[in-house]
Amino acid sequence: MRVTVVGGGASGCFTAVLAARAGAEVTLLEKNEKTGKKLFITGKGRCNLTADLPPREFLEGVVRGEKFLRSAVWSFPPESTKKFFEDMGVPLVTERGNRVFPASGKSSDIIRALDRALKESGVRVMLGCEVKSVRRSEQDFEAVLADGREIKSDILVIATGGMSYPSTGSTGDGYAFARSFGHSVVKPVPSLARLFVAEDITSLNGISLKNVELSASLPDGGSFSRFGEMLFAGRGLSGPVALTLSARLNRTSSARLSLDLKPALSREKLNARILRDFAERKNADLKNVTRALLPERLNLYVLKRAGLSAEEKVNSVTREERARLVETVKNLTFTFTGVAPFEEAVVTSGGVELKELTPKCGSRLADGLYFVGEVTDADAYTGGYNLQIAFSTAWAAADDIAARMRKQGRAD
Ligand SMILES: Cc1cc2nc3c(=O)[nH]c(=O)nc-3n(C[C@H](O)[C@H](O)[C@H](O)COP(=O)(O)OP(=O)(O)OC[C@H]3O[C@@H](n4cnc5c(N)ncnc54)[C@H](O)[C@@H]3O)c2cc1C
Repeated sequence: MRVTVVGGGASGCFTAVLAARAGAEVTLLEKNEKTGKKLFITGKGRCNLTADLPPREFLEGVVRGEKFLRSAVWSFPPESTKKFFEDMGVPLVTERGNRVFPASGKSSDIIRALDRALKESGVRVMLGCEVKSVRRSEQDFEAVLADGREIKSDILVIATGGMSYPSTGSTGDGYAFARSFGHSVVKPVPSLARLFVAEDITSLNGISLKNVELSASLPDGGSFSRFGEMLFAGRGLSGPVALTLSARLNRTSSARLSLDLKPALSREKLNARILRDFAERKNADLKNVTRALLPERLNLYVLKRAGLSAEEKVNSVTREERARLVETVKNLTFTFTGVAPFEEAVVTSGGVELKELTPKCGSRLADGLYFVGEVTDADAYTGGYNLQIAFSTAWAAADDIAARMRKQGRAD
């Protein structure tokens, strides 16, 4: 059985290897001069290849497509991904937050293992081959290359990724391919990216915070909150808690954000602590006392937002002013204006409509067509989840292709 896989990222390489191991004659078409260009930059160059969790807990990290992914993730869970790479000779380590990395700390080890697996399983890898269109003739699928060549096959797997970091080759081509077969595409929007805010926060650029809680209230009454690390970056909020919230805010244009800078302290406890600090240094400037609570630049920003003078002597701060300070530390509000663009988004939310796919990632509209990885309308939080989605969906498609071959073998 001839299989063409379009896209040499995580999902495409993995599908190609597994289908070839099952006995298919596989051609992998990648427009870049090498495979895994995006893989190289994952996990800040270290490649967080999965989240070391049992399937049920893993699925809790999925934002869109949890139900669709259940079968693929239960059949090919994080444990199987780890085993695949360990069997390929890549030692792995699991770090805080169940994040799995190659022990070397180099994403290139993962790419090299996939390239070796492609070679060993006999996949024909065609680099520098951009697919311009795909179609179905009487007998075959045809992938038409930029130079006009046509690659014919019995099975066509679209693994072209989403639209984030388009410089890596993921430019959303798969959506047009899907539409050409009559598939619907859920509007792709950036996810896991900075949250832009209306307030001028440029003075806070680069400040990173630990143990804070960021909450979002949506106009429809919905709300989400996350506890952990956050970073002020340019005119946006970044870091794990902000990126996680972006996955929930990327289909809305307005929301109220609230940052609790001291979530471990109730308002009463925070007030008591401030009172204590004030009593110890009655004649000090306010900013020099509150400096114990917050990083320097954030301290000044919070005082300003609370409408307090940084130079005011502590002994002249009124009860009402102190209440405003407590409130600002516990509830520093921002007006959300949108998620940063695809150029800096870790993943794309949206893609090929999941209702039109079988749990094995096969098209319900065109027999023999498959969609795997980020091109589908499935995405998850940071932490190795998105690469695991690529591997699990690749496994599902390859397993279905193998079943077809067994069926065909019996019929011959
Ligand atoms: C900066 C960054 C860091 C990340 N870190 C992590 C992480 O640590 N852990 C994690 O789980 N996830 C991470 N992700 C997300 C993860 O990389 C993706 O979800 C995953 O790579 C998707 O795999 P894919 O194979 O579906 O698509 P891609 O990796 O995007 O691969 C698609 C491939 O298809 C090729 N292609 C596209 N169109 C055509 C065409 N017309 N013809 C031929 N080839 C084509 C592209 O060139 C590309 O090589 C990160 C993403 C980014 C941007």
